[in-house]
Amino acid sequence: MKLLLKGGRLVDPANGRDGAFDVLVEDGRIARVGRDLPADGAEVFAVKPGWIVVPGLIDMHVHLREPGQEHKETVATGTASAVAGGFTAVACMPNTDPVNDHPGVTDLILKKAAEAGLARVYPVGAVSMGSRGEQLAELAAQRDAGCVAFSDDGRPVATALLMRRALEYASMLGVPIIDHCEDQTLKGDGVAHDGFHAARLGLRGIPGVAESIMVERDIALAELTGGALHVAHTSARQSLRAVRDAKARGAKVTCEVAPHHFVLTDEALGEPIAYDTNVKMNPPLREAADRDAMIEGLVDGTVDAIATDHAPHHADEKLVEFDRAPFGIVGLETCVPLVFDRLVHAGRIGARRAIELLSVNPARVLGLPGGTLAEGAPADITIIAPDMSVTVRAAALRSKSKNTPFDGWTLKGAVVATIVGGNVVYARER
Ligand SMILES: [Zn+2]
Repeated sequence: MKLLLKGGRLVDPANGRDGAFDVLVEDGRIARVGRDLPADGAEVFAVKPGWIVVPGLIDMHVHLREPGQEHKETVATGTASAVAGGFTAVACMPNTDPVNDHPGVTDLILKKAAEAGLARVYPVGAVSMGSRGEQLAELAAQRDAGCVAFSDDGRPVATALLMRRALEYASMLGVPIIDHCEDQTLKGDGVAHDGFHAARLGLRGIPGVAESIMVERDIALAELTGGALHVAHTSARQSLRAVRDAKARGAKVTCEVAPHHFVLTDEALGEPIAYDTNVKMNPPLREAADRDAMIEGLVDGTVDAIATDHAPHHADEKLVEFDRAPFGIVGLETCVPLVFDRLVHAGRIGARRAIELLSVNPARVLGLPGGTLAEGAPADITIIAPDMSVTVRAAALRSKSKNTPFDGWTLKGAVVATIVGGNVVYARER
């Protein structure tokens, strides 16, 4: 089967291409990239002027909730949400029930992903058994089963000794540790950023340094061990400064930022709706200086990846008082509109940098085959209409959960089609 993507603008940073190129897909791979390619029996996908053709987007931080919490999301509904959001691959965190600390769980997730046949799914294994922070999980067996990184995400690795051992073992296996940075003694029972808005609303605060203290500790351990450390969902300006300094010293440290942390601030705690549980996430929405620091990091290269931290929760779980609601929001289907509207159209970054953050760098950090439209690479491709306006409708999301603070927002930047292994797995209805 042959497919020709004809027209539009190709943005392929990994191969230094940006311009009017057609892409011929054959047997699930990129067969040719060139100008004015002949159809030659291929099915033709007409890419309209102004649309961009990019290497498939990769979200390196999602929660698919299966096994154990299928009322929030399943591998099938999560990957349906992923491809509707332009993602051809996702890395899923191990805080399922049971925790993914065993090849049996990794196998199950991979089997469910193959059955769904939508986005590629790369499991992230737990650092410790049950993510309890006591005993290291069987990292080698998990790597062999298909895990691409290790993390106790949802919880920090509390002791420096366990983090040291994890970095040492992961480094021998050639994979990174993804670090959920949080000093739990400083976080306490906080529910929102420790600042003016939380104080005004009577919410207990979580200071930015509850994050950055652990970022600094784990950078020190990465430098001690030579292991690769990836800081998840960076939200505090102090954390970003630590990563920037570490990179300048040549440490093997990378980091990601979630769209809500470069779009929203803790002002959303009070308006338009006070105590809206859809603005409760961990790490919390921080103050304007933190949000601005995230944007600066996205612009200057300190930030490697944009990852959504897609965290589905059932409506009933979020329909409680702010203190009792679970942390997290869904993010897969709002990411591209937010990136294009708030970063690209706002003149902060160009389309090329956006694709580095959403595809090239996640592939590099996790050692995945994607992030490139080189001839011979898997035909994982996303087509985006940067100028098309979309209005987010929570009820219409493909995700099983609808917990988004962006309901009703109109944004410029839409996913037109998502192609995985040469198959069109998502196409926007006209
Ligand atoms: Zn986390």
